[in-house]
Formats: sequence, structure tokens, C-alpha cells
Amino acid sequence: MSVLIVGSIALDDVKTPVEERFDLLGGSASYASVAAGYFSPVNLVAIVGEDFPASHWNFLQERGINLEGVQRAEGKTFRWSGEYMWDMNTRETRSVALNVFETFAPKLPDHFKSSDFVLLANIAPDLQLQVLDQMDKPKFVIADTMDLWINIAQPALLDLLKRVDMLILNDSEARELTKETSLIKAGKKIQSLGPRIVAVKKGEHGCLLFGENDDFFSCPAYPLEDIHDPTGAGDTFAGGLTGYLANRGNHDVGFKALKTAVVVGSVLASYNVEAFSLERMRSVEQKDILSRFAEFQDLAHFDADLL
Ligand code: AMP
Repeated sequence: MSVLIVGSIALDDVKTPVEERFDLLGGSASYASVAAGYFSPVNLVAIVGEDFPASHWNFLQERGINLEGVQRAEGKTFRWSGEYMWDMNTRETRSVALNVFETFAPKLPDHFKSSDFVLLANIAPDLQLQVLDQMDKPKFVIADTMDLWINIAQPALLDLLKRVDMLILNDSEARELTKETSLIKAGKKIQSLGPRIVAVKKGEHGCLLFGENDDFFSCPAYPLEDIHDPTGAGDTFAGGLTGYLANRGNHDVGFKALKTAVVVGSVLASYNVEAFSLERMRSVEQKDILSRFAEFQDLAHFDADLL
């Protein structure tokens, strides 16, 4: 079953303590689409400017992503620049240029409107809402967000939360949105705002999954020794998770499937951070995902008798 993804396509400049790279393919939708594409066909809705390099466009196309819903507008592509501190976790945004995003109004090609699985990757919540307004009747809607929208667009974000099945956000965002220090309280409070399911990402420490009827899962993080560029880890996680769920087709999205989906998302994110931009994904195949998934299973398995 195909996935509809809306989000940003960007040109990123990224600086780490050891390297600086420019004009990289970035954006929440780029990462999410490539990750979802390992499991399901992807229909992408986004916007790029006249300066968007053909090599980046071709890369997305070669991954089999349907780009019919990507507008090519006059002006420049969205640009983002960030710098990572020595821990490769703390990040400072150096600059953001909205460019073509300033006037972006997502428009879904007719045959995208009946998608059952929708990932509203990180963009302004009013744009995420505009996409939902055009959909027929999706079966499962997942939204990702970021601190910026919690700070400058909270009313729209709260409207959105009432219309999604699942929200993905990171630990500091969950605390900011709920004003709770405990992530457990924060996750439950977010559920009370609308989404039945909440995934709280904890960076290099894994992720917490909150389901219905107090279902709860704590997913570990893959113990990676070398991280080259953490950019897009969250978007890759969301894309992998959604692609996996869509691949199950008409089966119910129960808690067991959601647990598997967050592990799949974590596996994909762990690969993505091994190189800049989406470069690592050029060589990752589905068999690699399966083998790291099995490692994850061993990692989280706990089989001992107490006393
Ligand atoms: P992540 O590392 O998961 O937070 O995602 C990083 C990606 O998000 C980069 O490739 C950026 O181009 C993109 N990004 C950063 N800020 C925004 C924003 N305000 N709206 C949409 N995408 C953004």
C-alpha cells in the first residue's frame, strides 16, 4: 500500500566537529521518503525552487519516489544550515531561508487523495492541515513536528493533534509542549490532546512508545560507534516506521505492529547517521535492514529468572 508524504525538500549546509559540507540534499520529506521507500511505494508532496540540482531530483526519482506532487516554483529551494557540537547530539541552527516555502500551498494530485497511510513530515502545521483537508479518508495519519512550531504555531499544532492517529516528537519537544518534566507524563498528556499513539524520541537513547489502554514500549537505540551526520535521523525514523506500517496493508495497526515499526524506524535512522545527508542510504539494502533488525531484537531481549 502506498504512503503519502508531505514535508520539506531542502538544500542543507552541515558542519560537524570534523567536516563541513554544502548544498546537501536535505529536508524532512527527502529523508522520510527514502526511508519509507524500503517498504512501500511513496507519493511525495513538496516544493523545490529553480536552483534545485538535477542530481538530487534524479536521486529521489531513482529511489522510485513518485514526484508528481512536487512543485517546481520560481525562486530558491528551502535552505537550512546547522552545526553539531562535539557530542554530535547538540545542534545549533545557523540559518533558515524559507524561500519557495513562503508561498507554498500543497496541492495533491487527485490519485494521491485516497492514500490510506499519510506521513505529515516536519513542516508548518497549517500546511500539514491543508494536506489533511484534501484527503478522502486516510486509515492512519502520522505527524512529526519540531520545537519551532510548538513555539510559533501552537494553535495550529493543537488543531492538527485532534486529527492525527500518531504524533512523533523528541524528548525536549514533548516537555516543551506539555510543560511536564517526566516523559511518561508528557507522553500521556499528548495522547489526551488527540493522538491515540505517541512516540517520544530520545536521540541516542532510543524512543518511548505510548499506545492505547496504557500500552507502553521502550525501544533501545542501536549502539553506533561512528556518527558522521545526525541530520534527518528523526525524519528517517518517521519514514521507516510509516513505510513499514503501510506495507502491512489492511491489517489493523495494533500495538505489536507499532512496536515493530519503531524498531524498523530506529534501524533506518541508525544507518542514515553513518554518512552525510542521504549518502549512506545509497548502499543500504533491505537485507541490511533485516540483519540490523535481528541485532536489535537480541539487544532488547531479556530472558532471566529472578531468584
Ligand atoms: P532532523 O535532523 O530530523 O531534525 O531534520 C533535519 C532536516 O529538517 C534538515 O534536512 C532540514 O532541511 C529540515 N528542516 C529544518 N528546519 C525545518 C523547518 N522549519 N521546516 C521544515 N524542514 C526543516
